[in-house]
This record gives sequence, C-alpha cells and structure tokens, in this order.
Amino acid sequence: THQIHIIGGGLAGTEAAWQLAEAGMKVRLSEMRGTGERSPAHQTDGLAELVCSNSFRSDDAEHNAVGLLHSEMRALGSVIMACADAHKVPAGSALAVDRDGFSEAVTQRLLAHPNIEIVRERVDALPASGPTIVATGPLTAMALAESIGAATGSDALAFFDAIAPIVHRDSIDMDVAWMASRWDKSGADGGDGKDYINCPMTKEQYLAFHQDLLHGEKTEFREWEKDTPYFEGCMPIEVMAERGVDTLRYGPMKPVGLDDPRTGRWPYAVVQLRQDNALGTLWNMVGFQTKLKYAEQVRLFRTIPGLENAEFARLGGLHRNTFINSPQLLDRTLRLKKALHIRFAGQITGCEGYVESSAVGLLAGRFAAAELLGQMLAPPPVETALGALLGHITGGAEVDLYQPMNVNFGLFPPVEGKAKKANRKRLYTLRAEQAFDRWLGRAPVEKQKEDAA
Ligand code: FAD
Repeated sequence: THQIHIIGGGLAGTEAAWQLAEAGMKVRLSEMRGTGERSPAHQTDGLAELVCSNSFRSDDAEHNAVGLLHSEMRALGSVIMACADAHKVPAGSALAVDRDGFSEAVTQRLLAHPNIEIVRERVDALPASGPTIVATGPLTAMALAESIGAATGSDALAFFDAIAPIVHRDSIDMDVAWMASRWDKSGADGGDGKDYINCPMTKEQYLAFHQDLLHGEKTEFREWEKDTPYFEGCMPIEVMAERGVDTLRYGPMKPVGLDDPRTGRWPYAVVQLRQDNALGTLWNMVGFQTKLKYAEQVRLFRTIPGLENAEFARLGGLHRNTFINSPQLLDRTLRLKKALHIRFAGQITGCEGYVESSAVGLLAGRFAAAELLGQMLAPPPVETALGALLGHITGGAEVDLYQPMNVNFGLFPPVEGKAKKANRKRLYTLRAEQAFDRWLGRAPVEKQKEDAA
C-alpha cells in the first residue's frame, strides 16, 4: 500500500518520488514505458530519460539563473542533480551528462529505495481520490491528456507551444521605441492607453526584414508533429511573410493608429511588445511565433529598430507540448484548485527544460510530503530560483498569455539600483542565497561550516 501515487517516471516524477521517499512516504510510481508504449520522443525504458540534448545548461550559480537553480536543488538533496553530477562529461562551465549513465543511475537509486514501488503501467484517467502527482510531461499519453482536459476545462490545456520571443525590458532602446496603444486606447484593465512598446520601421527596413524572413533558416516539423492541429491564430511569421509582402503589415506589424512621437506620423510598419509578467521585466513580441533557427532569430530581430541590443529571455518556437494553464488552475503549492488531492509537476505545469521540470518535481514532492505529515511548507521566496520559477507557474504570468518558460532573472523581482550587467547578475544570486538560507532556516554558522568544507 502506498501513501501517494506519482504518474510519470520522467525528470519531474522521479525527483518528486525521491523527495517523498526520503521524507518517509510510501510512493507508487507509474511509468508507461516498459509496457511496450513510448512517447514519440522517448527511445528507452529508463527513468528520467533525456529526450534530446544531454545538457543541464550553465552550472554557474553566481551569474546564471539555471546554475543557481542547480545549487538550490543540490542543497535540497535532489536525486536528479546527484546523478547528473556523478555522470557529468566535460562541457566547460555547463553541466552535461552521459545520458545513459545518468538515466541508469536514477533508475537504480529509485529501485533500491525501500519506500518506492515502480509500476510499469499506463494511467488513463486522473484518480478520483488519494494524493496524486501528475508528472507525465509534454507528451502525456492521449487518454490521460483528455482526462486532464475534462478536469481543467479544455481551453486550459494546450497541445501546441506557439511561442513569440520574449525580451528583457531593460535591453530595449526606449530612445527609439515608445509606449502607446493603438489609437491611444486603454485596455480592458483601464490602463493609460500606453500599454505596448512599439518599434517603428521605415519602408526600406520593412522590405529588408521581409526578405530576411523568407530566406532565414528554419527548423523542420518532426514527423509526428505534422499531425497535430495548428491554428491560424498561431501561424509563424515566416509563413505569413510567404503569403505576400504586405501580409505582416496588415497583420501583427500593422502601424495603423500608432503615432511615432518622433515624427508625429504612423511608421510604415511596427513591431509591438506586450508585457509578459506581473513584474514588467519581460515583454513578448506580439504575433511573432516562428520556426526560424535560434541564431537566425537573434540576428534578424536585432535588426528591428529599438531591439539592436535586445536580450531574449526565450526565443520563438512552435512544437508539440502539452501543458495546463497553471496560473489559473493551480494553487501556490501546485495543487489543482478544483481537486486538491492532485498536484502537477514538470513540464506539464508550463515550465520548460530538464532542470526546471526536475525542480518543479522537487517542489511538488516536498509540498506533498509536508501535507502528508500534517505540516505546511511555505513556498520558497520569489528571490530564489525555485521561488521565481514557482512564481511564474502559479501566478506571475498573465493568465491568457501563459507560455512555458525557462528559469531566468526576468522572473525574479528586479534588483534595485544601477549596476553593470555582470555585477547585476551577482546581485541577483547574492540576494537569492540569503533568501534561500532564510527559507531553509539554515543558521549562518551551519552554512559557514558547509561553505568551508
Ligand atoms: P518527461 O521527462 O517526458 O516524463 C514524463 C513521463 O511520463 C515519461 O516517462 C512518459 O513515458 C510518462 N507518461 C506519459 N503519459 C503517461 C501515462 N498516461 N501513464 C504513465 N506514464 C506516462 N529540455 C531541455 O532542457 N533540453 C532539451 O534538449 C529538450 N529537448 C526536448 C525535446 C523534445 C522533443 C521535447 C518534447 C521536450 C524537450 N525538452 C528539453 C523539454 C523538457 O525538458 C523535457 O521534455 C523533460 O523531459 C520534461 O520533464 P518531465 O518530467 O516533465 O516529462
């Protein structure tokens, strides 16, 4: 008999299982691979399989948000980080792993844990009762996805990720761009009519940009993605560009009603950015979902006036990804508000990446363990990497714009004052370290001993 049921033995599910088992809870972990069934991306039956790259990205905890997340996870006894560290391969300042050794290590550690029972089975419906963590990932098997859709409302479950690039606000040149809404109209929230950042283009700039879009290098749809429905509303900009030279100018790049304060006139075309998080640090390029290669996006989008020095929190994309509208559906401890016995973890919550998925699994496991013990675990503070990521998932993002995202400093509350870029990153991580230690309740003495060791 088990005390909690975890569905999905990927990165998030294994980490959640480990955290619960270490806290003394009996866990049943259901994984469909090993029954002859696999998602189109998985190639083995090993737990925590890395489906694509073998990189956990930067391991620099002082200047990089994902590196900081690594260090917070290590401090919380993450099995994913322990197995990654044990199977790392040379990759400069990044943490890359031997994928087979890593997956085998996670599998063996879970198999050896007396509190974990691994069951190879596919689960087709959300359990009606009993503590549950759903960690079935971006390629959740269809029957379960439908059951989740029925529980959450189908419009709160996405199957495709049509991502417009997201830019750090402080990297936009506001001497060129300006704030305005079309016709100066305030939005539904009764704003001041200046809700968008607008980047103006001349005719020459627009025509050159259009040519670049036509010839830019694109990524292909994978075979199994071609069958997934793809809506007019999320058509890639390069596909729009192919439809005609003016299609974009009548679509997302429409200049109508936008007086450039420097000329007093409408520009030939406009790129608009809309606020993407509650903090106002991240802005998305409206209607700019694309399948252009990443390097091409950076090169091309930096030709847009005002975005010459743009830093991207994430680039555009379009691929199959099952995720729920977490800010609307989940509470601060990842419970489904409509059915409190169910938690979600991993990429299905709308985080993005191996490390982030594992991190959300870790949090779900800890929240569930505390609850089973009759305790309350406060969510980590938003100044920490774990807290910033959790904040994005459970409340930071605008509900109707919710899109998966990697951890990045734009999800943290801005640090006060002006500092050079490298120094500013360090200010974020120093503040995070202090907040994390306070949250853990670690006495400074204990911390000093650990640092010295
Ligand atoms: P998963 O690791 O996918 O785990 C979910 C598990 O649930 C799987 O083992 C699956 O078999 C099982 N499962 C599904 N449905 C059921 C069911 N009904 N019953 C029982 N078990 C079920 N991130 C990166 O950082 N780097 C990359 O290079 C990268 N490449 C990616 C490439 C692709 C094609 C995709 C789809 C995603 C990629 N990601 C990448 C994003 C993401 O980090 C990974 O998908 C990551 O594995 C997500 O972790 P997870 O635990 O949420 O899901």
